[in-house]
Amino acid sequence: MAAPKDGLEAVEAEGSAGLRGTSGIELVLPSGPAVPAPLCPHGPTLLFVKVTQGKEEARRFYACSACRDRKDCNFFQWEDEKLSGARLAAREAHNRRCQPPLSRRQCVERYLKFIELPLTQRKFCQRCQQLLLPDDWGQHSEHQVLGDVSITQLRKPSQLLYPLENKKTYAQYLFADRSCQFLVDLLSTLGFRRVLCVGTPRLHELIRLTASADKNSNIKSLLLDIDFRYSQFYMEDSFCHYNMFNHHFFDGKTALEVCRAFLQEDKGKGVIMVTDPPFGGLVEPLAVTFKKLIAMWKEGQSQDDSDKELPIFWIFPYFFESRICQFFPSFRMLDYQVDYDNHALYKHGKTGRKQSPVRIFTNIPLNKIILPTEEGYRFCSLCQRYVSLENQHCEHCNSCPSKDGRKWNHCFLCKKCVKPSWIHCSICNHCAVPDHSCQGPKDGCFICGELDHKRSACPNIATSKRANKAVRKQKQRKSNKMKMETTKGQSMNHTSATRRKKRRERAHQYLCS
Ligand code: SAH
Ligand code: ZN
Ligand code: ZN
Ligand code: ZN
Ligand code: ZN
Repeated sequence: MAAPKDGLEAVEAEGSAGLRGTSGIELVLPSGPAVPAPLCPHGPTLLFVKVTQGKEEARRFYACSACRDRKDCNFFQWEDEKLSGARLAAREAHNRRCQPPLSRRQCVERYLKFIELPLTQRKFCQRCQQLLLPDDWGQHSEHQVLGDVSITQLRKPSQLLYPLENKKTYAQYLFADRSCQFLVDLLSTLGFRRVLCVGTPRLHELIRLTASADKNSNIKSLLLDIDFRYSQFYMEDSFCHYNMFNHHFFDGKTALEVCRAFLQEDKGKGVIMVTDPPFGGLVEPLAVTFKKLIAMWKEGQSQDDSDKELPIFWIFPYFFESRICQFFPSFRMLDYQVDYDNHALYKHGKTGRKQSPVRIFTNIPLNKIILPTEEGYRFCSLCQRYVSLENQHCEHCNSCPSKDGRKWNHCFLCKKCVKPSWIHCSICNHCAVPDHSCQGPKDGCFICGELDHKRSACPNIATSKRANKAVRKQKQRKSNKMKMETTKGQSMNHTSATRRKKRRERAHQYLCS
């Protein structure tokens, strides 16, 4: 198939197919009694297997659950690899060194001191992304420091902190105001009283702002996020430092209990989970995590409610629909397009593209969810749900079939509606973009074997690169083992010095928050 036609299709090619491809890196889900996975700084690692032409390679390996780039976490271990006591100890020390320097409690104590300060003494270091107490000023005198930090600013940390856009780890894309407001209004219309925000710091913030402004809408919110900087702004009962790819609470049992209590309060009534994970992440580990949160919620339920489901909003691109529904068959996709502030592609308005590919997947019946007509949605009485204006009901499909918000056309030969840019190809015997190559050589994606995108657009490229690098590195490590041991403690050469400097800078960014 030829290069994708427009922006939206390019984004789709980036994320669709491939995931069920014939080659790539796949997660190994635990079967049988779980062997505890080795730990990296981001909690238990995940077990992966490299798949080539549909065949699994024999040797499986553990890698970081959260970081899809070895630059951010270079953990690698073969499943059958035995580590020496010395290496295990070094790893433990490394994991400890990578943890934030302050405990959750200490962060809260600092915050309480901070809000006691007069306005003129409330400073925020923009470089270190840290609220400063007078004792810290000296250390940051050379840095860009913001003064007069108001209570209003403290209540909007997602505006004070810069977004961590690094796609391979945080992928922090913040909701545009109108999408965030839409979500808050919807949650309150649906009658929820507690929202578990998993990776949605801006939503968490707006829920709290709304609740403090209007005593009638007293919705509570608990944020779980891997971005430790947020712990400066919230008490222990409203933020947990958390990894959603392995359900790891960085502050252990205390934090886990905060989450449990939140889900189980009022016998689990009135709570919803809203999540907006990094799109580059694998769906499987997320699904495993969400099932654990669901189980935690279920434990607190009374017997007669045992057939109820925890209400969920999972915000993700539309082309992941089949993957998500595979794990959560009761989920349906809303036509609502979620917009972001700092994502040029997904943003409405003059500079951004008009169509966002990001949708809400939910187990709440779609007929209960009203989409704003002023933003171009209408109610389809046949489908009993709100859809995009352009998403016209097809009497042959008996549905409003469009996934991407454009009008799709019915093809009587394919017996389904297809994208407007596609035409029926009598050689291929199905609809496709006009300039595709019929029966052409199968020169699809090098990584996953799918035909509708190239290697560079493959959704598996990150994991594949990481695994290949990991394997290379592992081999290199073996052959260099002697060398590395002898250079320890000696002066560094230039490249490793810059590498270390970079690593230090990254650590600074992470630890100083
Ligand atoms: N649109 C949301 C933000 C989504 S961006 C909002 O405006 O509120 C993805 C979020 O997930 C970021 O806040 C990021 O810090 C968080 N995140 C990324 N990786 C994570 C992980 N492994 N575990 C938990 N949170 C993670
Ligand atoms: Zn890691
Ligand atoms: Zn500083
Ligand atoms: Zn149709
Ligand atoms: Zn067709």
